[in-house]
Amino acid sequence: MDSYQDEIIVLQVNNWQNADKKAICFSKDHGKIIFLAYGARYPKSKAGRLVQPFACLHAEFYPGSSVEKLKDCELAAPMPQLGLDQLAYGFLMAEGTDRLTGQGEVSEGIYALLQQALVLLQARNPRLAALAYLIQLLDHCGIGPVYEVCVNCSHTAEKDGWFSEEQGGFLCDSCCSGAMKTGTLLPFHEETRLLWQKLRMLDFAEPEHFTVKGGALMELERILHGYLVYQTEQPLKSLGFIRQIAEQHTLK
Ligand SMILES: [Zn+2]
Repeated sequence: MDSYQDEIIVLQVNNWQNADKKAICFSKDHGKIIFLAYGARYPKSKAGRLVQPFACLHAEFYPGSSVEKLKDCELAAPMPQLGLDQLAYGFLMAEGTDRLTGQGEVSEGIYALLQQALVLLQARNPRLAALAYLIQLLDHCGIGPVYEVCVNCSHTAEKDGWFSEEQGGFLCDSCCSGAMKTGTLLPFHEETRLLWQKLRMLDFAEPEHFTVKGGALMELERILHGYLVYQTEQPLKSLGFIRQIAEQHTLK
């Protein structure tokens, strides 16, 4: 069987059977790849040392029917040294990438975005880096919500409104009944919309500095995480880890 090479970013690593690891990565030329690294849990295994979350590797695989087998790997960039906050938001980025992409769907754009976002995660506020990444990832996947106009009446979004997961975007106040507001819709303030716009346009290579209001940030996270769960029909496990760390911060 012929092997093939690619540059990859590791998203998730789990133990597999007695001595192996099973990992998910996003690659430059083959999209998402799920692979087994045999013997990676033996102390002297090179794959064991290198196949770690967020590592960027030159990897060689033997193709399988749904899971590839890792033949060899080398570091393609220095191993990132992440603190707890960075790790937590990194896991959210990784989980979003895994959920929104399918095996065999190639996207150099997503690969480049992920690579740049991981650099930003280490250099700037990890919470904002993760949020900007997920917003731009949704656009790359073609399911970015509409926030410039009302999804119902197409009027330009002005003032405060609501967010509909079902309709995938902003709803102006006059298009919503009272029952909808207390039921399925989330508040979507103008300030939140402006933050969304900024993060959507954020140039990861040369990110501008800006200040963010806590209320808009929390509202945007609530909308975006809810939309991700709605789209993928699965809960986001990494949010539990983020909550735990936030609680530790408040206890200090
Ligand atoms: Zn409307």
